[in-house]
Amino acid sequence: MPFRPHPFSWAPGAAERHATREGEWRGADSVAALCGAEIRPVDTVESWLWPTCVRCDVEAHRIAGVPMPRRRRMAAAG
Ligand SMILES: [Zn+2]
Repeated sequence: MPFRPHPFSWAPGAAERHATREGEWRGADSVAALCGAEIRPVDTVESWLWPTCVRCDVEAHRIAGVPMPRRRRMAAAG
């Protein structure tokens, strides 16, 4: 089981790094991301460096109870 300190995991897909509540997503055809998107996970060296989905980032921070950094908060609002 991968390192999972929160009730969500990061899952790259659709050219962004999304987060999901689903447990083991490797090998899945489709994963429900926190932002509402259904993504096909892509687990490659490059995919982990894709930009983070802003909506998933906001939701992940909310779930973790950690305030968003100010700059990301403004990007999410815009
Ligand atoms: Zn997302």
